[in-house]
Order: sequence, then structure tokens, then C-alpha cells
Amino acid sequence: GSKRESKRCVEAQCLPILQHKATLTKLVKDNVFLVVTGETGSGKTTQLPQYLYEAGLWKGGIIGITQPRRVAAITVAQRVSQEMHFTLGKEVGYQVRFDDCTSQATVVKYMTDGCLLREILADPGLSQYSVVILDEAHERSLNTDILLGLLKKTLLQADKGSVRQRVVVMSATLETDKLSTFLGHCPVFTIPGRTFPVTSRFGNAIGPKEVDSSRYVNEVVRVALDVHVSEVAGDILVFLTGQSEIEKACDMLYEKAESIDYRYDVQDQTVEGLLILPLYGSMPTDQQRQIFQAPPSGIRKCVVATNIAATSLTINGIKYIVDSGFVKQLNHNSRVGMDILEVVPISKSEAQQRAGRAGRTSAGKCFRIYSNEFWEKCMLDYTVPEIQRASLTSVVLTLKCLGVHDVIRFPYLDHPEERLLLEALKQLYQFDAIDRRGQVTQLGRLIMEFPLHPGLTRALLKAASYGCEDILLPLAAMLSVENIFIRPGHPEKQKEADKKHRNLSAQSGGMNDFATLLSVFQWCKASDSPSAWCKENWIHWRALKSAFSIETQLREILLRLQQKKDFPVETFTGNKSELFRRCLCTGYFTNVARRSIGKIFSTMDGHGTAVHVHPSSSLFDQEAELDWVIFHDMMVTSRVYLRTVCPIRYDWVKDLLPKLHEVDAYELSNIARE
Ligand code: ADP
Ligand code: MG
Repeated sequence: GSKRESKRCVEAQCLPILQHKATLTKLVKDNVFLVVTGETGSGKTTQLPQYLYEAGLWKGGIIGITQPRRVAAITVAQRVSQEMHFTLGKEVGYQVRFDDCTSQATVVKYMTDGCLLREILADPGLSQYSVVILDEAHERSLNTDILLGLLKKTLLQADKGSVRQRVVVMSATLETDKLSTFLGHCPVFTIPGRTFPVTSRFGNAIGPKEVDSSRYVNEVVRVALDVHVSEVAGDILVFLTGQSEIEKACDMLYEKAESIDYRYDVQDQTVEGLLILPLYGSMPTDQQRQIFQAPPSGIRKCVVATNIAATSLTINGIKYIVDSGFVKQLNHNSRVGMDILEVVPISKSEAQQRAGRAGRTSAGKCFRIYSNEFWEKCMLDYTVPEIQRASLTSVVLTLKCLGVHDVIRFPYLDHPEERLLLEALKQLYQFDAIDRRGQVTQLGRLIMEFPLHPGLTRALLKAASYGCEDILLPLAAMLSVENIFIRPGHPEKQKEADKKHRNLSAQSGGMNDFATLLSVFQWCKASDSPSAWCKENWIHWRALKSAFSIETQLREILLRLQQKKDFPVETFTGNKSELFRRCLCTGYFTNVARRSIGKIFSTMDGHGTAVHVHPSSSLFDQEAELDWVIFHDMMVTSRVYLRTVCPIRYDWVKDLLPKLHEVDAYELSNIARE
């Protein structure tokens, strides 16, 4: 009604998108595909879905909006439900992996691109939707790129009269011509932006030789404090790469900001304090809400964030940017043959995007801690799309399940390297998810049901076939949440926490990081006060809570599958105590290493990478007793480290290892084109 309308406009009235409401609504109605672009913060994500709602498009089906990041999906849904005066989860809801906050009443649904991809599996025509908005397309996330190809394939080829759905692709900047061409030369609407000039200044702390350095944390803290004591009022946004760094930087800022004497040091007498707020993916949403609130008068806000603040979320009032020049990225590492989270220099376009965040409401300043030479020599012009740098295993399986067999000739916006496609096919073949003709197997379809890594799912299914899912379900849940073990910054506290963690692994039997995770889950769950138990043992209670909920959800999926007639059932004839590790082997035989000399292991996947056990593992310093091990993931610094490790016997993988070398590249490309 009009009351709702007027209330929302009070808050959203100065957003550039408002003037184009009628035009945009008409364009969406009249076109199957539409590209919308505009500066970050112009109101695309929060406003356009509301316009389409007001225009009544929800009557024909859900208005769905995808986001590459789960935090963005959640935060924005909260905001929009508030603006529209609805309870979150009713008319406006969100869905991300392991967290569904929607109901029968939901007509505006924010979701991760991964969730929509899964929905397409169950309903290839997306019949529930009237409009699908692929947001943040410029981020070029793997899932959004695949959705673009799929929607193009189904909707462009369909007969015009039969297409009911509308697809809107939204992008902050860049590549709109390319997008429009890709989508059959669809119209592009550009929301004219108002931006103010931002002056950028290079520093000299990080040069071309510092690509691997972690000095940038200290340096951003120093620069942020310098801005605080010497620049006029206006909030600060600091870009770092991840949670632990952000927490460290915030601790340092708290400590140093305490000792500032405002009577003498601050030029602008209206600034008398610093409010320090972290912002990263896995933090609680109630804390995230604070980020958007204006600070009390006289107080300067300083948000220390990951890349999420570069485009997905817009914080009002930012006047200063402190840019570390780095970002955490999932890259396929060909040296070790695995996807690894790495800290890498950002691209120049990314740096410009970050700087732009300072110029939304007035002229701003961007302080880059890296040198001009670093910019010239270490930073690419544009960020490489995820599809060209990450493992495609899950995506290829999804495509195959959707009946897209020729994964090489799929319409990709940017074609991934054939090497990555073949690597994915090889892995799926190794897991028995596809056969030699490239067809999805029965196991492959079961694997697809779980939102987990295919190897982990295979281990889980193996345990389930023995009727022992109770040991693998909690483990799978624990491996799906980040940061279980708290590592305090303070050295004394760190010692205390390390000791507790060592005790936990000893009590769980020792020498097996997977078993430690399982035990932590079970002990915490069985304790009278789980949160107190976590506090006592330096475990993140929030992570454990998510693990509990994830375990329940995985169990539900499994129960549903087990009720089917053809669910595999096997009997285990061996030592019960081996069972856990043998199940793990069926999923982790791709991650096997054998000790060669001293503390050095060598991987068995054909790469023969020299690797070390990470100091956080309970196997660290016990290497002399080890021969064969499996591991969950790797960390690459100057050395390659194995994390979450467990010893195994060669017998257990003997029959599986040949599978790693069974198919050659020639056969794979046949599989790909089948
Ligand atoms: P775009 O998608 O074009 O980048 P958005 O729709 O995300 O723009 O943002 C429009 C405005 O809404 C911005 O001024 C932003 O600060 C504000 N906004 C978005 N989310 C929230 C929130 N959770 N709380 C307060 N303001 C918000
Ligand atoms: Mg947006």
C-alpha cells in the first residue's frame, strides 16, 4: 500500500535507480533477457526486486535473485524484508547452502548462485520462477557463469511464445557488451551514477618482492591509524583477505586507538574516537548489522573487511579506503593438482573498484599500501574468472546430470581451459561418478544429492552402505564449517588453547585429525552445556552449532536416499576400528601421500609433490612413525603443507590407486565429447 511505499522511499529516495523505476519494470516485462549495470550502491540489488514485486510480477512465480556470496544473500534479504515491512522468511526470504529461510509465502527470494544451480537439477525449467536475477555477474563466479550458459541454452533456444520467465543479469561495471552479445544481443540498461572523485596514493611498504609477505597487516593498521589522526571526519574501510587477519588487525587497532590523545593529536576536533568493526563471511549476522549503522556523533567508524565490501555490500559514509592490495582466492594449483585457497595480489580493476567505495557520497581518498612498481609488475589488468582457475569437478557433474554431455562445447561466457575440464572428468571417473562413456553412474547421481565435495560424499556413502553413517555424517559436517579451533592472538592464551587442542586429539585416540573432529562433535553434543564445553576447550561454539545443523540436514538427505530400493548395501568383514579410516580411503585415495625421508612426504597422485605435515596436525612431529597418510587439504606457502591428516595402510588404497592413472588424456577427451 501507499504507506509501505512512502516509508521505503524515505530511506531509498536518494538512490540513483529510483528515477528509472518505470523504465526498468517495462524493460523486464518486455524482454526475456536484460542486462542492468550501474555503479555499486546505486540500488540494483535491494530496489529492483521490490519494483518487480510492486508491478505484480510475483503473481506469475517467485522473483529470485542470486548472489555469489552467502553473506550478501542473507544481509540483503534482511534489509529488503525490513524495507518492505515483511517478516524475514515470509514474503521475502533467503536460501544459502545449509540454511533455508523461505516458506510457502516467499515470493522474493535471495539465494546463492550455487542454490539456484541445485534447483535447476530438480526442475530444469525453473517453473517456480517468474524472474531470475543473476546479480554481481561481474564477479564472474563459477556458478553464475554456468547459470548464464544454462539459461542461455534453455531460453534462447526455446520457442519465443513458450518462454514465461524473465532473466535479468546485473553487473557493477564492465563487459556489458560482452554479456549482451552472449545473450542474443539483449538490451542493456545503464543506471547513470553519481560518483565523486577519489584520489589514490601509492605507498612504499609492499613492493614486487613482497608478494608472499604478511607484513601488509601491520601496514594497513599503521595507515588506518594515520588516516584517523590526520584526516577530516569520514569513515574508513580497510580491505584485507580473511577472518584471522581481520581479527588480528582489529585487535591491533583497538590497542593502538586506546592510546590516542584526542586533545592534541586530531586536527579535526569533531573526531574523538574510533569504532572498529570487522566484516567477513562467516561472522554472525547480528554483528554484521552494526556495520551499516551510522556511528555516534564524533566517532569515526573503521570497517575492516574482506573483498565482500568491494561490490556485494555497500556501507554508507565511507570516505577513506585503505587497500592491502591482496585477496584470498580459490585457485587450481597445477603444482599440487588441487584447489588451494591462496592470498594473491588483486587486479587493477579490482583496485579501482575498491578505491571507488570512497566516492559515493563525497570526494574521497584511497591509500594503497603497495608501491607503483607493485601495481605495474604484480597486478593483472582484470581478475581471471573463477571458471578459468578453479576445479570444475562439481560443475561438470552438475552439467552431466542435467543432460549436458558435451561439456567442452557448452556455451561458456569465457571458455575454461580444456585442461581443467579434462581434470574434472578424470576426477569424476576416478570417483566412479561417470563411466568410460562419460555417462553419469548411479553413484554419480547419489553424489550429486549432497552439497559436499564428491570425495567426501563418496566416503559418506561407503560408510552408509555398511550401515555406519553415524561416524561419517558428523565428520562431513565438521569439514563443512570453517575454523573450529580458536587460535587466540595473545601468546599466553595461545599456549593454553594449543594445549587443550592437543588434549582433545589425544583423548580421541591420537594421530588422526579426522577422528579428533568426530570426537569434538560427539563430546560437545553430549555435554550438558555445549557452549560452556566449547569455551573450556577453545572451540568456536558458533561453528559447532552450524555443524550440528548441517549434520541433521545431511542425515535427512541420506535417509531419503536409503529408502530407495537400489541404495547400495555392503557388509564389512574386517577390524571394526579400521572401518572409519577405510571409508575415508574410498573418498580420499586421490589425496594419498607416502613418507619418503625424514619429515618429507610425497603425493601419490602422479604429481609426486614434496609435502610436510602442517604444525596444526596431531601428526606433526610424529612423522618418524608414519608411512602412508591421507589428508583433507593442502596449504601452499614456501612449502606445501598437509592439513587434517590420518595414517592409513597401503592395503586399503592398493586397489584404488591404479584408478588414478587408468585413463589417458585421449580417452578423456572422448569422454568429454560423448
Ligand atoms: P547495488 O546493488 O546497486 O550495489 P544496493 O542495492 O546493494 O546497491 O545498495 C543500495 C543502498 O542500500 C546502499 O546505500 C546501501 O548502503 C544500502 N543498504 C544495503 N543493504 C543495507 C543494510 N543491510 N542496511 C542498511 N543499508 C543497506
Ligand atoms: Mg548489488
